[in-house]
Amino acid sequence: NKEYIRKPEWLKTKINTNESYQGLKKLMRGQRLNTVCEEARCPNIHECWSERKTATFMILGDTCTRGCRFCAVKTGLPNELDWGEPARVAESVKIMGLKHVVVTAVARDDLNDGGAAVFAETVRAIRRENPGCTIEILPSDMKGDYESLTTLMSSGPDIFNHNIETVERLTPKVRARAQYWRSLELLKRVKEIAPNTPTKSSIMVGLGETKEEILKAMDDLLDHNVDIMTIGQYLQPTKQHLMVERYYHPDEFAELKEIALSKGFSHCESGPLVRSSYHADEQVSNAAAQ
Ligand code: SF4
Ligand code: SF4
Repeated sequence: NKEYIRKPEWLKTKINTNESYQGLKKLMRGQRLNTVCEEARCPNIHECWSERKTATFMILGDTCTRGCRFCAVKTGLPNELDWGEPARVAESVKIMGLKHVVVTAVARDDLNDGGAAVFAETVRAIRRENPGCTIEILPSDMKGDYESLTTLMSSGPDIFNHNIETVERLTPKVRARAQYWRSLELLKRVKEIAPNTPTKSSIMVGLGETKEEILKAMDDLLDHNVDIMTIGQYLQPTKQHLMVERYYHPDEFAELKEIALSKGFSHCESGPLVRSSYHADEQVSNAAAQ
């Protein structure tokens, strides 16, 4: 039985729940939509929704067929496929006036295409209704099925994001049924299908990895032509999830960012509260300027 380490000051934030936030929450329930921003109780929600006009929708239901040991999304029998979901997401993006939207999904290992068809239709519907909004997709590995990936990419997202989440050694412990090299191959294949689409990946630190292992993950991502990297602190969502092994100091995050940029990433966000979708709007314009 390990002892819990105390949360440092820089992670003690309060979720800002003003009126516009409450209104948007209502909108989500009315539309039967899920956002990662709410599910993960993301501390950046006020900044993202109200100031930056960014949000992360989680489609294909609220129940995942996998059960990664860091993730708060519930696991179990998946929901029925909902073909009305793409239109409702597109409409909500419009009502929220979003400038950048991230679309992610639970892993649907029960479906032959991993949910790629509904996912692609969601991207198209958002585009039709919101021509000025940039779209980032954050799918599961779709079991490495390249046909599903091609379906997904045919919708023309502005950024393709797929998270390796952790270093190679810890992958079996952290990510249920995912594989480090399969995720990297997926990222590489996206560049082959759509060479001009920026690719992005994220890791959480604080799960017991060493610095050398983090640097190796950076090299592996670059070897697979990934453009953008984000690095954030792992936080334990409930006591049933993996414990935090270490809290990194903001200076360490700054150092990791420097290293990532010097190694060759076009953009890197690195900080205690950085999430895969944090400041994603900047990454699109940055990537476009490359
Ligand atoms: Fe949502 Fe991502 Fe912003 Fe958090 S960082 S509020 S998950 S868009
Ligand atoms: Fe969570 Fe994604 Fe793992 Fe499902 S596949 S448990 S949504 S991290």
